[in-house]
Amino acid sequence: MKLNDRGLLIVISGPSGVGKGTVRKALFAREKHNLEYSVSMTTRKPREGEVDGIDYYFVNRDEFQQRINDGKLLEYAEFVGNYYGTPIDYVENRLVAGKEVVLEIEVQGAMQVREKMPDAVFIFIVPPSKRALRDRITKRATESEEIINQRMEKAEREFNMAHKYDYIVVNDTVENAADRIMAIIRAEHAKTERSIHRYMQMLEVE
Ligand code: 5GP
Repeated sequence: MKLNDRGLLIVISGPSGVGKGTVRKALFAREKHNLEYSVSMTTRKPREGEVDGIDYYFVNRDEFQQRINDGKLLEYAEFVGNYYGTPIDYVENRLVAGKEVVLEIEVQGAMQVREKMPDAVFIFIVPPSKRALRDRITKRATESEEIINQRMEKAEREFNMAHKYDYIVVNDTVENAADRIMAIIRAEHAKTERSIHRYMQMLEVE
């Protein structure tokens, strides 16, 4: 593989409850893709059905702090009382192997990635309406009223960060949103600055 054939880093954010996780799973369920999901680390307790190492790496605060101190996280943020972060080694290894790496992270973390890896692609998922978002957050109902309100407040603040992203994707239906993300990835690959080296190499060979 040529040196320049590093994979694309795709950062997906959006207000809590917008359905990022569902859209991401729909992307990964598609037949043909070259995507790899970066499993985050968190100090949040597992929700019912969540599996360590698949949904998150669940750790305590001391362990998380140790990763921060050791420089093992590409980014991290505190979100509604818990830490969340992206293990850097996995992301680097997969990008070097030419894979498209998907991060599903909140806004503060995404902005840290923007600083460190400016050629990543930043996608912000929005709900079709604010009402739809509240319904989603309430229906999840695995959390107390207080947490639901905190998440709704946080979501409203996060809405205002959409302008910091390269693309906005409306999650009207999960499949539509996944189609839009696939189209973005395809278009990003065709961008001149990402593809011209291959074209130039082809000219040299002829
Ligand atoms: P939840 O508790 O609902 O699983 O996640 C809460 C928020 O943390 C979501 O917006 C989710 O995208 C975000 N998140 C998950 N993993 C990471 C991570 O590694 N870094 C950052 N900055 N945010 C994350």
